[in-house]
Amino acid sequence: MRIVLLGTPGAGKGTQCKRIVARYGLQHLSSGDILRQQRIEGTELGEAAQTYMDSGALVPDQIIVEMMVDAIKKAPDVGFILDGFPRTVNQATELSKSLTSANQKIDAVINLKIDDQVVFQRMAGRRSCPQCGAVYNIETIKPRIEGVCDNDGAKLIQRPDDSNEVVANRLETYHLQTEPVIDYYKKNSSTVYDFDANKDAEEVSALVFVKLDALADG
Ligand code: AMP
Repeated sequence: MRIVLLGTPGAGKGTQCKRIVARYGLQHLSSGDILRQQRIEGTELGEAAQTYMDSGALVPDQIIVEMMVDAIKKAPDVGFILDGFPRTVNQATELSKSLTSANQKIDAVINLKIDDQVVFQRMAGRRSCPQCGAVYNIETIKPRIEGVCDNDGAKLIQRPDDSNEVVANRLETYHLQTEPVIDYYKKNSSTVYDFDANKDAEEVSALVFVKLDALADG
């Protein structure tokens, strides 16, 4: 299965991806995670992405497309789930071209829909591990010890791009540049499934699994 997961920041893409990966064995390809890793490693790509990421703007298409096409080529035959990519119609078009040339296509697009107001509430409580990238929430996904990562004991932080002002920018960017990607897929005959991501994550996963089980059974 080759899946695209779309949704605003804070819609629960990371959580849903983990569950989908655990159930179907797909490779999780998150453009945000790959970029953050590049920044930790101090690569040229990481440095080029830094200012865009910290302000909530999108990193230029050319950089992202090259990075993700490369990751997709290395993915196992069982398939992958794209998280945070494509984020513009241009990225989606370039992705389609690359897949078509390998005789592949996107089998399903999962679209997590959520109210902006709920996003602000969720992001305010979000805490991340600067070492392993694990994500917690002070209300809903608490670590075993407050403020400390369960995986590696690092002190949890609020990511600079989770501040209110940056979240507002990211939402605006999403509505302007990423929502048209959903129409792109609807027009190009990919199967698009909409889910109400205002609901809690368990409920959303159950609904997602119903659709993906049917797809996997083919
Ligand atoms: P995320 O963790 O997916 O919300 O991504 C964090 C940041 O990385 C975004 O706010 C963008 O600056 C950048 N980014 C991630 N994916 C993309 C993409 N597909 N296109 C452009 N910029 C991206």
